[in-house]
Amino acid sequence: MKNLKLASGEIGQKTVVRVGNVDVGHQFVVIAGPCGVETEEQTLETARAVKAAGADMLRGGAFKPRTSPYSFQGLGLQGLKILEKAREETGLPIVTEVIDPRDVSWVSEFADILQIGTRNMQNFALLKEVGRSDRPVLLKRGMYSTLEEWLNCAEYILSEGNPNVILCERGIRTFEKYTRNTLDLSAIPAIKELTHLPIIVDPTHGTGRLSLIGPMSLAAVAAGADGMIIEVHNNPQAALSDADQALTPQMFADLMKRVKPLKTFMENLTD
Ligand code: PEP
Ligand code: MN
Repeated sequence: MKNLKLASGEIGQKTVVRVGNVDVGHQFVVIAGPCGVETEEQTLETARAVKAAGADMLRGGAFKPRTSPYSFQGLGLQGLKILEKAREETGLPIVTEVIDPRDVSWVSEFADILQIGTRNMQNFALLKEVGRSDRPVLLKRGMYSTLEEWLNCAEYILSEGNPNVILCERGIRTFEKYTRNTLDLSAIPAIKELTHLPIIVDPTHGTGRLSLIGPMSLAAVAAGADGMIIEVHNNPQAALSDADQALTPQMFADLMKRVKPLKTFMENLTD
């Protein structure tokens, strides 16, 4: 692919993004937590539960890019303060979305990883701004984007001087309506052919259906993903965003019991 001067890299090169004591790209990373930060109780309870089940990082949006302007938009600064509290208590690094270039520098004071959502994948001003940040960036695939367009967006970040980009396959829009998106698992081995950057999978937004999250998580492990990001809520029915696709802490714990042994099995196969 043309012009991927930094994203394509040398043969055999593999970028490892260190966050806290987790080496993304080296060990399998599990990021879990609510879609949005709603209350201190909801976030802390969920954080404790995902930590106990073996998650490596906590996710939670303080800025929610919603289809409707009347839907819950996130708590902003108050949400980031809640996430900070959850990190203090659990030690889990925080992954949180930033949607406005003007917010990047101050959100970076709270976030361990800055998430760029699917709707902002080609927000070039935002990409340049996170490219100048010293925080790693989780770059989600645009729902209408090709791999080449996606990697060019990674290139925007890398070319501003930030080498720590993690890609996230989160499903693309197709004619299929049963699932919320079509999770493109072929993107995992394809991305590994095209770039040295780590890639994780989001089976939550990739399917939008509780019953499919488990099977697609296992499939992502088998396809060689470097990790996954999953929505978990302490009380999914009460969630203010993405209520239908949030796992309960128990469902997440059950899934983790299958993900970890499968990962070990796959590592032994390829060794
Ligand atoms: C999210 O992670 O909550 C989110 C909004 O994801 P996406 O940008 O992939 O829709
Ligand atoms: Mn969500």
